[in-house]
Amino acid sequence: MAMFSWLTEARSLLSPSAMPCLTCGKLGSGSSQFPGICRVCTEAIPWIRFPRCLKCGRHVGCPDCTRSGEPSPIVCNRSAVAYTSVMREWLGQYKYRGNERYAPLLGLMLDSAYLTLKKENQNALALLSRKPSIISRSWSADLLVPVPVSDSRLMERGFNQAERLADVLSRRRKVPQLPLLIRTHHTGKQSFKSRAERLTDMKHAFSANPAITVQFTDWLKRKRPQDRPVQVIVVDDIYTTGSTIRACAEIIKQMGLDYGYMIEVYSLTWARS
Ligand SMILES: [Zn+2]
Ligand SMILES: [Zn+2]
Repeated sequence: MAMFSWLTEARSLLSPSAMPCLTCGKLGSGSSQFPGICRVCTEAIPWIRFPRCLKCGRHVGCPDCTRSGEPSPIVCNRSAVAYTSVMREWLGQYKYRGNERYAPLLGLMLDSAYLTLKKENQNALALLSRKPSIISRSWSADLLVPVPVSDSRLMERGFNQAERLADVLSRRRKVPQLPLLIRTHHTGKQSFKSRAERLTDMKHAFSANPAITVQFTDWLKRKRPQDRPVQVIVVDDIYTTGSTIRACAEIIKQMGLDYGYMIEVYSLTWARS
């Protein structure tokens, strides 16, 4: 066994493309686009290229957004992929089994969702200006805010997956990241709860991070755009009912209002379930 892994390692040094694929374990030609995975796996990624629900970015018909008539605190959510069983396995490898080699892969996938969101908004701006050839300004996020995990979760997992995803985006797109929120209590396994239970749970799960107040106000004063609202993107791994994202968005908007600034909140999630 040791010999075999030594050989695999040696071979991978000689020829990086012959490394076993991170996700299927087969030796094959590596993807040029995504680190560590083979071409077959790259082609099987269930991208959401054309969301059916423009509000929450869902790829299938969406009763949730049409049912609740209440205004949403987010402009929209966009997710990179549909949460299929294969994607669940990838996330599980990373989040619960701590295989850190997934971090750049998942981050790059989220980056591709960011580019889609940017393009959509850029097109909308061009339409508004009625001169499609002249885009007066390009759309860009001003700040990334990862959804926080509780201290106990952080201890047990060793990292916050949302923060790691935001790290990749932040580096690639030069958008700063600030941990504006903290998780005041952790809400237990959400998957076993009803929609209504999740919603009430979430309302009290987050609050403004007192440790970041000075940095945030300083950023608002110096770096805030002058001609439009501040555009903040909340980053998380999964969008299920959207209750987590909405709870976070409400606090962020309130934080802005407390200092007299309008904040528009978007969300980017790696997968849409
Ligand atoms: Zn593969
Ligand atoms: Zn929807």
